Amino acid sequence: MKLVIVGTGYVGLVSGLCFAEFGFETTCVDKDTKRIDFLGKAQCPFYEPKLENLLLKHIKKTKLLNFSSSLSQAMNKADVVFITVGTPSRRLEDNADVSSVYKVAKEIAKNIKKYCVVVTKSTVPVGTTRKLRNIIASKINKKKFDIVSNPEFLREGSAINDFMRPDRIIIGCENAKSEKIMRKLYRPLDLLKIPIISTSIESAEIIKYASNSFLATKISFINQVADLCEIVGGNVQDVAKAMGLDKRIGSKFLHAGPGFGGSCFPKDVKAFSATAKKMKVDLSIVESVNKFNKKRPKNIVVKIENYFGNLKNKTFAILGLSFKPNTDDVRDSTSMIIASLLHSKGSIIKTYDPRAMRNAKQILPDLHYCNSIQEACVGVDAILIATEWNEFRNLDLKGLRKKMKKAIIFDLRNIYNKEEVLNLKFKYYGIGK
Ligand code: NAD
Repeated sequence: MKLVIVGTGYVGLVSGLCFAEFGFETTCVDKDTKRIDFLGKAQCPFYEPKLENLLLKHIKKTKLLNFSSSLSQAMNKADVVFITVGTPSRRLEDNADVSSVYKVAKEIAKNIKKYCVVVTKSTVPVGTTRKLRNIIASKINKKKFDIVSNPEFLREGSAINDFMRPDRIIIGCENAKSEKIMRKLYRPLDLLKIPIISTSIESAEIIKYASNSFLATKISFINQVADLCEIVGGNVQDVAKAMGLDKRIGSKFLHAGPGFGGSCFPKDVKAFSATAKKMKVDLSIVESVNKFNKKRPKNIVVKIENYFGNLKNKTFAILGLSFKPNTDDVRDSTSMIIASLLHSKGSIIKTYDPRAMRNAKQILPDLHYCNSIQEACVGVDAILIATEWNEFRNLDLKGLRKKMKKAIIFDLRNIYNKEEVLNLKFKYYGIGK
């Protein structure tokens, strides 16, 4: 089978590489010609562990992977076409902007040469894939294609592993023919006994939003519990650990912090809530998660402001800018929001991130970008640990204290033991403890 993937972002490129790894001839298409040139030379447009090696392997060695900026050419022999373009929030609105998905659908319709399966892998609100079928069916014979919703659950930072060893594969389809083709694509995962769940198209679309919204709810829940702990003298880490031991609850996504960020959770929570409103269904749990999470970085800055009295001319070392470790993605990153808020209140921000500074500079050019943790900490009033990169987990606090103006740590990811830090003559502020 020959595959075409439209969109070479975090999801498209990883999917293309992994399908090549499964042995399929795959062509990745993007409208960004610079990106396609770059990828053709086996150069990665973003940082994701393990990506570069696979890129080299499948471009140079197996030759299963091709890149093109022409969808019409790529479509020549396509058996399956995946749409993996972005679906960001609409400007000033909560619903997802699916215009790129529909645009690609129109282009696909113009270029279908023989029967093929058109798959939405982008996260799209319920109803989108069926609309997409109508768009294509208005141009060509309905027998020449089928549509499938195959949402993606990979996480940036561990995307290749997640794609190769997912918890489950969801195939939302309308008939046995397209289901069979999709199951054939994922057959290499049979050895790992990965469950493949076939559902209606609508259920598949909802599964993606419901899953992300549920995880976001878990994060917001523990963040609210953390706020209570701070007031009454509890320790949210002890609370979360004990809660997580209950198998019905589980320990994942119970880490208190500065709120969830990234390219998926914030926009998906908003879009899910918007869908419910449109359908006049009460999904107020998700709506309140969205509201609370939006306020969270602001509330953290208020706590820092309350500590110092005034933030003007205070200098902070912000360690970490990406929304999570092992990625250079700064979209909706809480570290970036906090950096921007502190800066707008007159603080001087020195910052260091192992991978994300190039992307961050484009959005917040006025921060002082440093080449090392040590450089970032010279002369600062406090360190803020904003992203839990491994290299921030074992800082030489004794050494750093000598370089800092004041010895204070705001550990927004709770990666340090309070007593140990206090013993090193630092003032320590974690979340919920
Ligand atoms: P991205 O922004 O990194 O990449 C999107 C790519 O699509 C870009 O390279 C862009 O140039 C290309 N594109 C846009 N319009 C195009 C067109 N008309 N023709 C060809 N190419 C076009 O996006 P992403 O982070 O990979 O996310 C893609 C989708 O997958 C989104 O719906 C997202 O919600 C979902 N998703 C993302 C993740 C993640 O961790 N990033 C995980 C699961 C699902």
